Amino acid sequence: MAGILTRAVTHGFSKRSTGLVLAARPMSKMADPLEHATGLERKELEAIARGNPDPFMMRVLKRGPGTKTEPNMIPSFHEKRLIGCICHEDTFYINYMWLHKGEPKRCECGHWFNLVPAEDPFKDIPNPHV
Ligand SMILES: [Zn+2]
Repeated sequence: MAGILTRAVTHGFSKRSTGLVLAARPMSKMADPLEHATGLERKELEAIARGNPDPFMMRVLKRGPGTKTEPNMIPSFHEKRLIGCICHEDTFYINYMWLHKGEPKRCECGHWFNLVPAEDPFKDIPNPHV
């Protein structure tokens, strides 16, 4: 962007008085990122456009009761996932731990976590390469 602006200003000064007016106008409309995206980025943008704002499930989840019989369910695409527990509201650190499929785990604060298989967020998005 800075390069484009520099070129516009330089170009504008070479065209005498009209140069400043050219530099002050918006250069052009920005392209839609979906038109240029490919691969996983395109799938992510399509999922967001279809109403799923977090297709990779990276947002912070609110803990539930977190008991042994009713643990916090953590979705994962893999056999294990690194999770972080903010044990208390006023702490300044995050307690990270590995969570493995089929092995519910208890944090130091007493909350239980269980790994569950995540749904494919791209199942309804057609693959253009097939
Ligand atoms: Zn904790």
